[in-house]
Amino acid sequence: MEQSNFIRTIIKEDLENGKRDTVVTRFPPEPNGYLHIGHAKSIIINFGLADDFNGQTNLRFDDTNPLKEDQEYVDAIKEDVKWLGYDWEELHYASNYFDEMYNRAVLLIKKGKAYVDDLNQDEIREYRGTLTEPGKESPYRNRSIEENLDLFEKMKNGEYENGQKVLRAKIDMSSPNLNLRDPVIYRISHATHHNTGDTWCIYPMYAFAHPLEDAIEGVTHSLCTTEFEDQRPLYNWVVAECEMENQPQQIEFGRLNITNTVMSKRKLKQLVDEGIVDGWDDPRMPTISGLRRKGYTASAIREFVQETGVSKGSGAVDEMMLEHYVREDLKLSAPRTMGILKPLKVVITNYPEGESEWLEAENNPENEEMGTRQIPFSREIYIEQEDFMENPPKKYFRLFPGNEVRLKHAYFIKCNDVIKDEDGNVVELHCTYDVETKSGTGFTGRKVKGTLHWVDAKSAVSAEFRLYEPLVLDEQMKEEALEDKDFLDYINPNSLEVVQGFIEPNLKDVQPQDKFQFFRHGYFNVDSKYSTPEKPVFNRIVSLKSSFKL
Ligand code: ATP
Ligand code: MG
Ligand code: MG
Repeated sequence: MEQSNFIRTIIKEDLENGKRDTVVTRFPPEPNGYLHIGHAKSIIINFGLADDFNGQTNLRFDDTNPLKEDQEYVDAIKEDVKWLGYDWEELHYASNYFDEMYNRAVLLIKKGKAYVDDLNQDEIREYRGTLTEPGKESPYRNRSIEENLDLFEKMKNGEYENGQKVLRAKIDMSSPNLNLRDPVIYRISHATHHNTGDTWCIYPMYAFAHPLEDAIEGVTHSLCTTEFEDQRPLYNWVVAECEMENQPQQIEFGRLNITNTVMSKRKLKQLVDEGIVDGWDDPRMPTISGLRRKGYTASAIREFVQETGVSKGSGAVDEMMLEHYVREDLKLSAPRTMGILKPLKVVITNYPEGESEWLEAENNPENEEMGTRQIPFSREIYIEQEDFMENPPKKYFRLFPGNEVRLKHAYFIKCNDVIKDEDGNVVELHCTYDVETKSGTGFTGRKVKGTLHWVDAKSAVSAEFRLYEPLVLDEQMKEEALEDKDFLDYINPNSLEVVQGFIEPNLKDVQPQDKFQFFRHGYFNVDSKYSTPEKPVFNRIVSLKSSFKL
């Protein structure tokens, strides 16, 4: 990213005044879920800044919690980082440092800076105190170094149950910063780890592990989100007291939040586990894989994130801004074509039966290089149900009895008869066309106000269209001011509409991830999960219009 920002300024100064002679950053996801667009911000900042200063960025799996991590997530994260357009220099697993972390913990014990505590989780919380009330020392705080070494080793050897003992850093129970009130740095967890198997039954806590990981890898600038600001003193304490050779600097930036979007792996996992969506890559998910399947391009995501900038603030960005960038990206590259989402048959009664013709249509009026195509036209076509009204209001310029409209790339047609079923539903229109009005002939005899899209009925290909709305309605959540009410109560029941329609025969061989603009309907992407050669399935990426202005 080229814009200046406060992190860039810090790095530049560090290089100029000799505090650093190189820049090493890392993107450190925990493999406990798929990446979401918030992670894209972290990726772009870490890779972008290092790149600007000819530094390097590593991918590190922060896999210190055996219970939640999985190889599936490791693979998906790698794929998503690459798809976004980034290539890590080194690949690391925090779990490869378990030996070293253990040794550093032993060092702390030997220095009298860590102790084994027998208090349970609730007691530890209670003893910790509050912002207005100092903490209380654990009765086990002053165990001898020898006893602590012995107990910690027994913890490691599996002599205790989960939760029976923990290792705590011995810092300051009256610190105004709660994070410094003797934080737990190791816990017992008899669980199989995706990388280290059953080798360990004690695992380091994030606040202890993360600074060590950064230091071990020679990270210079450890960039994270602002919720870790209060942990920075602990981060520095760990690096210093563990006598790490490299001293990374933690710098915090604001999380990316987007309106109508939940952005926490825990919640996204809940949506998957409860079957509210059809997987992490459901097109309604804010995951990288969901956005990709919906049809977002990597460059649109990058542009969007860069525009949101790097500040400490984390106010929610309007989802329309994300949509704006994908429209911009596809405007010149996506072929324009016609698709009917909710078909209504039209018979052109004065068109000769059994005949048909080819009409020329441009593929993208904003990009002539994309050329033209031939589309078939004959006696029966489909138009959109909503493009006809039997009793239209004033200023309705589409089709109604007696009215004439233009068919895009074709002729003027006039509606003469409305055919209904027994229940009174309109099932077919009988129209006549005027051969003089053929598109491209320069006909100026009379004007019409409406232009409709259509497809030739005989040659049309059946297609499914999937139309999306936000999965969660957070405006509603805010209004009701029920922050801790379950977000599942605000799931939008109309987030997916599936309709069956038709596309031009030219599109019969579309491939997953092909992108098009359907005239008047917006941009669509061929779905990679449900589309088949017999029946393409299109996800609407975004509609055409937006009131959003940069
Ligand atoms: P979540 O709360 O969604 O589970 P996390 O922070 O626990 O996210 P990690 O796997 O630890 O997920 O994230 C890897 C990196 O991505 C971290 O440095 C984290 O700060 C950053 N990150 C996560 N969410 C966002 C966000 N919304 N905006 C910017 N950076 C983010
Ligand atoms: Mg995390
Ligand atoms: Mg998390």
